[in-house]
Amino acid sequence: MKTIGVLTSGGDAPGMNAAIRSVTRTAIGKGMTVKGVYRGFNGLLNKHIEDLGVRSVSNIIERGGTTLYTARCPEFVPLEGVRKGVKTCIDEGIEGIVVIGGDGSFRGAKDLSNEGIPCVGIPATIDNDIAATDYTIGFDTAMNTAMELIDKLRDTAQSHDRCSVVEVMGRRAGDIALYTGIACGATTILVMESDYTVAHAIERINSTRTSRKHHFIIVVSEGFTAGNKISADEISRQIESETGVETRATILGHVQRGGTPTLRDRLVASRLGFRAVELLSEGKGNRVVGIKGAAIVDYEINEALAMKKTFDDEMYKIAEAISF
Ligand code: ADP
Repeated sequence: MKTIGVLTSGGDAPGMNAAIRSVTRTAIGKGMTVKGVYRGFNGLLNKHIEDLGVRSVSNIIERGGTTLYTARCPEFVPLEGVRKGVKTCIDEGIEGIVVIGGDGSFRGAKDLSNEGIPCVGIPATIDNDIAATDYTIGFDTAMNTAMELIDKLRDTAQSHDRCSVVEVMGRRAGDIALYTGIACGATTILVMESDYTVAHAIERINSTRTSRKHHFIIVVSEGFTAGNKISADEISRQIESETGVETRATILGHVQRGGTPTLRDRLVASRLGFRAVELLSEGKGNRVVGIKGAAIVDYEINEALAMKKTFDDEMYKIAEAISF
């Protein structure tokens, strides 16, 4: 392969730039030409594509967001959209593409591969909701951001003897809630993967009060509120009325998607970017790279998409065991 494209698609995640940089530099090091495709698959449909040189990706490893921009592209879902994308690739001489994004983006990458443009997907989403990898780019930064903000909420909850209900992101996976909940000493963590309901949080608050605990942090995942059709405000109202503890709700929202990527995100992005280009240079497409334990792995996209994400029940038990 002489020329490859790189794009970021779906929701943004800190560390995407580190992946773009790694892909670009690895490919150039192998003698390839690299083309940046802007705004996800949109760039293939409207031909917003620019050459990336070694210096085009200078000073981006430490920046959040994505310098190639990202977007959803519904026009790319039907086969005619994919075929239009293939035509652009042929016109531009793009022989393979690295697609940095989530499951949805990998479906686009699979379709492109099936139509003759080999693609390799790199998992990047703050939610850590991709089964084929233990870890997705952006997850660590998002957790650290959430942790810092919850620490601040704790200060004020403590000063006022209040309960703070904090909703963190993660519609399809409660990982951010689980890990930040442990790290912030949450009284309980409500995630869709567990059977616990608001009643459990109330019971937990009531039982820990007997040991002179005066303030409480309840971390709730977006998946829990969406799945149970209950807002963080409503959870907060129920807790206050059942326990008598003044309770406030905070939804952290998109602030979790931004910021300077942590060391872990930069490192994982650099490793996965390197491997993705290696695969393309070996002529292998229709694959997703990821991390399992300490190893870099890769799977066929269909196989990766069929995998079921597991929740760390052991970790959840630990959270409950040390939070009273
Ligand atoms: P994420 O990659 O973060 O999961 P989305 O699910 O929004 O984000 O998908 C991102 C983009 O991937 C979509 O806007 C679309 O362009 C493309 N895509 C998603 N599903 C498909 C599909 N079945 N076929 C082709 N392209 C798809």
